[in-house]
Amino acid sequence: MTVSRRGVLKGATAAAVGAAGTAVGMHAANSATASPGQAVLTAGSGRQPVELTWWGNHAWQIRCGESVVLTDPWLTRFRTGTYKPEGVDESARIVSKPSIVDKYVTKADAILVHHGHYDHLPDVPYIARKTKATVFGNETHLNLLRSLRAPADQLSQVVGGEYLPFPKFTIEVFRSLHSCGGARHQFAFPGTRPGAVPPTPRTIADLVEGGTLAYVITIGGLRILSLSTAGFDPIALKDLEVDVVLAAPGGEPGVTDRLLATLKPVPLVIATHWDDFDEPLDRPAVDWGGLAKLQASVVAAGAEFAKVEHLQSITL
Ligand SMILES: [Zn+2]
Repeated sequence: MTVSRRGVLKGATAAAVGAAGTAVGMHAANSATASPGQAVLTAGSGRQPVELTWWGNHAWQIRCGESVVLTDPWLTRFRTGTYKPEGVDESARIVSKPSIVDKYVTKADAILVHHGHYDHLPDVPYIARKTKATVFGNETHLNLLRSLRAPADQLSQVVGGEYLPFPKFTIEVFRSLHSCGGARHQFAFPGTRPGAVPPTPRTIADLVEGGTLAYVITIGGLRILSLSTAGFDPIALKDLEVDVVLAAPGGEPGVTDRLLATLKPVPLVIATHWDDFDEPLDRPAVDWGGLAKLQASVVAAGAEFAKVEHLQSITL
């Protein structure tokens, strides 16, 4: 297993770095406190260590002390063909395997659903039941989750604009957009499921995108912008100040350049959703082909670029 980075982001608190709009380099770690395979953001006052663990695709466990936030926790990884030459198999059956999820997921206070697709949603009902976490999503996401028998009393409907304080962290919700591409600027399985709960999804085509949300998690004094695809809403994110962006490759040409020009200068971008998820989670991630372009855009914007291996963590 390779490890992404080992470094120290020196200087002021992360919040101050963000506010100053200064991209600060990550330097080789000499710190005895840096565990192998982890980067450390040197904490100023008000900062506590925040550990981000990558479970592939856009599944992140963000932990600070006893607080745990999960983004699109999908770990079961059934075969889809998404990044294979034959393309996505629309008839692939949705499955969620507790035996796989239980290897990794132990606790969660909040689960952030970014969009409804098959590589984001299917394990959420089981994880919600197991952890008793509050699940955020829009009307379609929650209706799809209800149809997959998620615990209804834990679901919280959001649209973008919400500011949601928890005892040890805060969730802000932003309108967002799914990435699109090709000659007709399309994305897979568009559609919504408002109103009544739809029939139980059986195949991956039944899990429609349903609108896309972005979230800022403020935890341990760190502000993390979580984007589940390369798409974003330039109005919603205009001049937003964050310390870290979880950014996905792909999408229209130049989309990441536009994202980083829309935000206030951000010190650190961590790649997300860059692995071919037909490949196993317990093996090193296989780049589906978008990583180099993502990295080039991040470096051109003056931000540090980091990637984390499957099941590895970065501590900031
Ligand atoms: Zn998607």
